[in-house]
Amino acid sequence: MNNLSDIGKIKEILSKHGFTFSKSLGQNFLINPSVCPRMAEYSGAGEGVGVIEVGPGIGVLTNELCQLADKVVAVELDKRLLPVLEETLGEYDNLKVVNEDVLKLDLHKLIAEEFAGMKVAVCANLPYYITSPVIMKLLEDRLPIEAITVMVQKEAAQRICAEVGTRQSGAVTVSVNYYAEPEMLFGVSAGSFMPAPKVDSAVIRLNVRKEPPVKVESEKLLFNVIKAAFSQRRKTLANSLSSGLSVEKGKINELLINSGVETNARAEKLTLDDFANITNNLQEMM
Ligand code: SAM
Repeated sequence: MNNLSDIGKIKEILSKHGFTFSKSLGQNFLINPSVCPRMAEYSGAGEGVGVIEVGPGIGVLTNELCQLADKVVAVELDKRLLPVLEETLGEYDNLKVVNEDVLKLDLHKLIAEEFAGMKVAVCANLPYYITSPVIMKLLEDRLPIEAITVMVQKEAAQRICAEVGTRQSGAVTVSVNYYAEPEMLFGVSAGSFMPAPKVDSAVIRLNVRKEPPVKVESEKLLFNVIKAAFSQRRKTLANSLSSGLSVEKGKINELLINSGVETNARAEKLTLDDFANITNNLQEMM
């Protein structure tokens, strides 16, 4: 099936199946034929590679991935799309569609069962309402994956790909950088989707690190520190940490001084090393 991003074809298939878009499932389907081949190419899909796709929709990106990868497992929550996918992609014997919520799925098990002996990559046009939870699950689960190539809202892409330690950075920037090296690939206009969302999108690639760039005693505490630090962007770091971690201000000041960080610094100025030092010193203090 080659013309899946042809708008006439998409409308024909959807109307044949009586399909109506669900806003709450983030259903904005790609209708720009130039996007999916590029995404699939950047994802690393190829010989010896298995790809997990989140939310295949009617299969426009899946179609490209199936042509490049050894195997594709597409996880789709909306069961109304299963007969549609059977019609559009039924011809591929290297595709498995799994009707599950990706956030509830045991992806370690899926990889072990479906991709033995293959390199694994993730590629998806993510439903916007769960962009961060999906990305953080894929990273925090420490899956044996090489890279995550995803379409997200442009602002989310800019935040994730900002440099740690700059004004554009946020909790998600620091957290993602702990696990991966993010890369901005290309922008995609709102008009490339049906229905068109209100904002533009961008495709990013997260190159998963073999090892985190800093060492911490407790990753859970590191992420609590990052979250607390960015929780009140207008406040100084000491105030944000004090209220976010429920530790008295005097102790936080002491902690920051011991960690080589100025007490009136702002969270966005901190490096990953700073966050690691604060976390390890806090652990000792507790
Ligand atoms: N890949 C298609 C495309 O590019 O045209 C569709 C992308 S659309 C932005 C997101 C897709 O994710 C929809 O098909 C939606 O039903 C599916 N989805 C939403 N929430 C999901 C979840 N929790 N788990 C798996 N799929 C989900």
